[in-house]
Amino acid sequence: MTATPSPAATDEPIFTWPDGYRAAASFTFDVDAESCVLAHDPASVSRMSLMSHQSYGPLVAVPKLLRILERQDVRATFFVPGFTAECHPDTVRAIVDAGHEVGHHGYLHEQMQGIDRETEARYLDRGLEALQKVAGVVPVGYRAPWWELNWQSPALLAERGFLYDSSLLDGDAPYRFTAPGTADTLIEIPVDWALDDWEQYAFYPGWTGSGVIESPVKARDMWQLEADAQHEQGGCWVLTNHPFISGRPSRARALEQLVEGVKALDGMWVTTLEDIARHAASVVTETRTHARYAVPGFPDTGITRDGRPVAS
Ligand SMILES: [Zn+2]
Repeated sequence: MTATPSPAATDEPIFTWPDGYRAAASFTFDVDAESCVLAHDPASVSRMSLMSHQSYGPLVAVPKLLRILERQDVRATFFVPGFTAECHPDTVRAIVDAGHEVGHHGYLHEQMQGIDRETEARYLDRGLEALQKVAGVVPVGYRAPWWELNWQSPALLAERGFLYDSSLLDGDAPYRFTAPGTADTLIEIPVDWALDDWEQYAFYPGWTGSGVIESPVKARDMWQLEADAQHEQGGCWVLTNHPFISGRPSRARALEQLVEGVKALDGMWVTTLEDIARHAASVVTETRTHARYAVPGFPDTGITRDGRPVAS
């Protein structure tokens, strides 16, 4: 019996990459540390062990991950909440000094659902201020806490000069989109929950996780399979890891094996999201507009049952 070649292998790549590349991959790290726990429940500050679970990220995992990336000669993107930068300035400066990209990830990793424009603008500005003050960074990339973008978010990002967002889940490759209500556009580099370590490993009683902690071998293999498939179709593979989760010894080792596996794919451009976004901005002319669907008559859709806007 002979193996059947995948039809996709001979197809044109779905995206135009720089000469010599047929696909792109980026290792991204969300340095949530203590912020996501405190935003969820400020009283967590009194739980010493829970806080230590989060502090493991900036204190132990980030230095380890930086060594791996240096060994592998790979530049990565680190999304850092402003509060993390203020609590762990040396860690964030070490990331910058090692040549990696630092992106915006909220101030305190705030809950984003249902917040108004002014509140969201305040979170953005406070995060910008902290990154600038601590590490002299003016980020060009944004990843919403919990990947939870609001319809108002893109305009707020465009107003502040951001080049790209990486929080939406509706693509296999970068695209350009219009910030709703404006003429401005942003580059989107989409993500996927199947390429996030939270689902595989995160567990803390009474805080998060399913109670099932997966094997690093399983996580590595499923992420490699996705990289293989994205390489084949010429797409963009974006892995999201959290240092406090994926910096544990066997997970970090599996991650380094994954870096080797992804680098070994012929023509795979392994780089930062900023590099990918700048390239996308130079080649993508078509602009996508997100449809905002609403069911008439349902609460909070702003549309009456007969299709008219609700009078305010
Ligand atoms: Zn996060």
